[in-house]
Amino acid sequence: MNPYSEQKKLSILIVDDERSNIDVLSHILKEKYKLYIAKNGEGAIKIARENVPDLILLDVIMPNMDGFEVIRELKKSDHTSKIPVIFITGQDSKEDEVKGLNEGAVDYITKPFHSTIVEARIRIHMQIIDQMRIIERMSIMDELTDLPNRRYFNDQLTREWGRAIRETLSISLLIIDVDKFKVYNDTFGHPQGDALLQTVAYVFKESLRRPADFVARWGGEEFIMLLPGSDLEGAISVAERVRSSVENTIIPCIDGTSTCATISIGINSERPIVNLPAAGFVSRADKALYSAKQTGRNRVIVYEEGM
Ligand code: GH3
Ligand code: MG
Ligand code: MG
Repeated sequence: MNPYSEQKKLSILIVDDERSNIDVLSHILKEKYKLYIAKNGEGAIKIARENVPDLILLDVIMPNMDGFEVIRELKKSDHTSKIPVIFITGQDSKEDEVKGLNEGAVDYITKPFHSTIVEARIRIHMQIIDQMRIIERMSIMDELTDLPNRRYFNDQLTREWGRAIRETLSISLLIIDVDKFKVYNDTFGHPQGDALLQTVAYVFKESLRRPADFVARWGGEEFIMLLPGSDLEGAISVAERVRSSVENTIIPCIDGTSTCATISIGINSERPIVNLPAAGFVSRADKALYSAKQTGRNRVIVYEEGM
């Protein structure tokens, strides 16, 4: 799941080799949902891979590749395996229905179908999908700053670290910590402290340039930025930009006055080799951050061996 993706109209892929069935289903569903149409199994798989619809309505009997083969193919790939499938079919025996559900379909509707019943069942499945999305989003986002949380960061780090190893790329990491935040909280109060965290989170988000770069809330007043494919020079320039943006940002206070804040940043940049765990990559950046705090704050320090 992409934490920055926006809520769109939900989409349905209708797969049927009979034009009249497609027409009836399209007629019922076109108002509420974005529709994709496929007239055979091969076409269905292609559209599912390219567009990842929210739901698939799948006929069983089709020439060449039947619906059971289609669902098996979809279940093979991580990319399409989670798309819920509803069979809509003339195969109305108990055995067929059991087979369809055992193949991983979420529902089984027999033809001839009643449009209002199809519509109602789809609505129920869409509600479930919607709720799942909300829960998924809550599990990876930090509520206060609207940044991804540590769990999401760790998943992404594992993925990008693996990619850096496979493709022999540099990968850089910034650990960012608000300076003297305890004093800030004590001076202005906790709600204003929260507002500061929201402001700096926004500054961090705005300073990302490449699509693969991202920033997460690491915990408390600490943030973490991953720059896949960036070497040390690139990471230093991002870090300096972020540091100076925060320094130059005027933060409105809830009592009408304004204030400002600074941050310290530890950088670690590596070109990882096989079997090296990502955990050390983070802890080395943390050592650099510690050094930035020790040497006066409001600065960027790069990890060096022996720190
Ligand atoms: P340093 O410059 O060395 O980083 O000092 P510091 O005061 O920033 O660091 P310290 O770790 O002593 O204090 C962090 C403070 O951050 C203490 C904690 O109450 C506060 N804090 C952590 N999470 C939140 C939050 O979500 N909201 C607010 N308002 N404060 C928070
Ligand atoms: Mg701090
Ligand atoms: Mg801290």
